[in-house]
Amino acid sequence: VFEHVQQAPEDPILGVTVAFNKDPSPLKVNLGVGAYRTEEGKPLVLDVVRKAEQQLVADRSRNKEYQPITGIAQFNKLSAKLILGANSPAIAENRVATVQVLSGTGALRVGAEFISRHYAKPIVFLPNPTWGNHNKIFPLGGVPQKPYRYYDPNTRGLDYQGMIEDLKAAPDGAVILLHACAHNPTGVDPTEEQWEGIRKVIRSKQQLPFFDCAYQGFASGSLDKDAYAVRTFVADGGECFIAQSYAKNMGLYGERVGALSVVCKSAPVASRVDSQLKMVIRPMYSSPPAHGAAIAATILADGRLFQEWTVELKAMADRIISMRHQLYDALKARGTPGDWTHVLKQIGMFTFTGLNKEQVQFMTREYHIYMTSDGRISMAGLSSRTVPHLADAIHAAVIG
Ligand code: PMP
Repeated sequence: VFEHVQQAPEDPILGVTVAFNKDPSPLKVNLGVGAYRTEEGKPLVLDVVRKAEQQLVADRSRNKEYQPITGIAQFNKLSAKLILGANSPAIAENRVATVQVLSGTGALRVGAEFISRHYAKPIVFLPNPTWGNHNKIFPLGGVPQKPYRYYDPNTRGLDYQGMIEDLKAAPDGAVILLHACAHNPTGVDPTEEQWEGIRKVIRSKQQLPFFDCAYQGFASGSLDKDAYAVRTFVADGGECFIAQSYAKNMGLYGERVGALSVVCKSAPVASRVDSQLKMVIRPMYSSPPAHGAAIAATILADGRLFQEWTVELKAMADRIISMRHQLYDALKARGTPGDWTHVLKQIGMFTFTGLNKEQVQFMTREYHIYMTSDGRISMAGLSSRTVPHLADAIHAAVIG
């Protein structure tokens, strides 16, 4: 009965790793997937995560019972505090509904389904380009999507004018997806002034901001700084959705730890929203896994562990920033044609190099460098050892 089933294409991002794994060359470098690697090219488990895990394992009173539908209550509370700030009036007024979900992807999907059931204008505007999964998550969650202008290939920066025009042209009440910081794939974020302009348009049109926050602390090294955009929107008293992921900032990728917060106008509304989020989650996966969220909650709740986390987080962010400088210097040293200052200016895990598909294919074929075909490279996958090889490859690709 399944004879007719067609072979599906590889995921455009995870497929890069599949091709990488098949390549026997010792020179190969994987700059496709957005996962942090050490200078030695190895995955990193944070010391603070190991400590929290040891505490959890040693605690014989813990069991493996089902979690509530919305997960660990303390984790939810602390996640809202992390993104909104310790003194957030929205939290003090009990008008934030937060649920534990399956990482950032799960937050987006649960949020989409809630919007499709309960929001009068179920259409979402996504930045162009955006993380490839957004285009699929929203429509499958019942929310059709449209693009808004975001990236300008000429300046390799933000097309602010285009973005504002498209937001103004979008219907009143439309959902607007915003990357809270470290836009993926471009690494281009609005300035504080531009965020203010964006906020004014969105609020004047009663549009609903949906923040995707997958990199808090990972962009600048400061948890508060990376929460800037979300906090300015919440400070004006309006509603918003926030999807949080602990994949990158705690390195909990495979544990699937995330939260979805809905900031509402009042406590009774938040309570009703919470009840309806349960109605979305229960038939989808019943309740979330316990272990990863317990690790995160342990770290967030303990002053000492929290402090240790911020130090380790900053070290990861700093290593990525240092890779930007090393790559820029290496291209300068080779006299590679073009302006490469965007390598320094872009923020977060990725550099949107501006290399085209043919140049990417050339680099993979001749230099065994693996990256997505849009020219995005994960700076977190680079090391001092691999930067010269990458610079050689870019140089050769550019001069043709
Ligand atoms: N949003 C963006 C912009 C991302 O880059 C990612 C991770 N690549 C996610 C959401 C979700 O990741 P996860 O489901 O692993 O938390």
